[in-house]
Amino acid sequence: MSDPVLSVNELTVSFGTRRGRAKVVNNFSYDVGEAETLAIVGESGSGKSVSSLALLQLLPTPPARVEGRALFRGADLISMTKSEIRGVRGNRVAMIFQDPMTSLNPVRTIGFQLMEPLKIHMGMSDTAARARAIELLDTVGIPSPGGRVDDYPHQFSGGMRQRVMIAMGISCSPDLLIADEATTALDVTTQAQILDEIRRLQEEMGLAVIWITHDLGVVAGIADRVVVLYGGSMMEESVIDQIFDERRHPYTRALLESVPVSGGDRPHRLKAIQGLPPDPTRLPPGCPFAPRCRHAVERCSNDAPRLRAPAEGHRVACHLDPADFHD
Ligand code: SF4
Repeated sequence: MSDPVLSVNELTVSFGTRRGRAKVVNNFSYDVGEAETLAIVGESGSGKSVSSLALLQLLPTPPARVEGRALFRGADLISMTKSEIRGVRGNRVAMIFQDPMTSLNPVRTIGFQLMEPLKIHMGMSDTAARARAIELLDTVGIPSPGGRVDDYPHQFSGGMRQRVMIAMGISCSPDLLIADEATTALDVTTQAQILDEIRRLQEEMGLAVIWITHDLGVVAGIADRVVVLYGGSMMEESVIDQIFDERRHPYTRALLESVPVSGGDRPHRLKAIQGLPPDPTRLPPGCPFAPRCRHAVERCSNDAPRLRAPAEGHRVACHLDPADFHD
C-alpha cells in the first residue's frame, strides 16, 4: 500500500478553562490514503471538528494546546511555522465548512473569491484565473457559470453557495479535502449531487477526503472507512461494511439505532441515546461512554479500554465482545 496522504498520530487537544483543562481530543490516531474517504463520526462535542481545525492550526493557542503529530505527505502540520501552514491551507489541504455564508466574503464577487487562491497559490494571471473560475463553477454544477461568476454570494441560493465552497475547496487541486458537515444544511437532492461531484474528483485527482459528520446514516454511501469518536477518544474504526454489519462498539450501535440508515436493509425503530456526552473538564476515569452504556460492567467505570483489533483493519475500544452484550 502507498504511503498515506495524512497520518495523524496521538493527536491531543485541550483548552484552558476556568473550570480546569478541558481535554477535547485524546490520543487520536488515523491515516487517510489517496482517493480514500475517511468519515469521522460523532455527536456534537465529540471532538471531531476540533481535531480537524487543530490539523490546520486554526485553533487559537492559547487557550488551545495541541500535541501529537500529523504527517501530511511526510511533513508535520502541527509543528509547521505560520508561513509554512499558510502555504498548505487552501492549497494542498482544503477545508469546507457547513455554513458558506461565514466563509464567503459578502462584499466580493464569487469570481474574485475563486480567483484569489488561483493567483496566489498557482501563480495564474487574471485571465487564466477567471477562465479557471468559470470552469470550476461549471464543474460543481452552477448553471451559466460565465454569467454567474460576477455575482455576489447573496445572489446565490444556499445550495449554490455550498457548491461554490466546494469549487473553492478543489480549485488548487488539493491532495486532501476536509469536509465538516459540508452538506448537512442542504436538501437531499443537492447533497447527493455534491457527493457525486466529490466522488468524481476523487477518481480523477486521487483526492483524499475526510468527511466529518454527526450522522452515521449518511456515510454509508460515501466513505471507505469510518472512525467513531466519543468524548474525544476513538471508540471504533473500520471499513464501512464492517461498521454496519458487525457493530462491535456499544456507542456505534447506539448511533446506528438513532438514525435512519440510507440504503439499509434493516428497518428499525429509532432510539435516542439516553444521557449527555461527558464534560471534557471531568472525563470519567474509565470508559468515557460508561455513564450512558447499557452494557457497562463494573470495570468500565475505572478502567479505560484500549483499542484492540478484533479483525484486520478493525479497531475497537471496549472491554466486551458483542456476544457479551445483553440485547
Ligand atoms: Fe460500554 Fe464498557 Fe464497552 Fe465502554 S467498555 S462501551 S462502558 S461495555
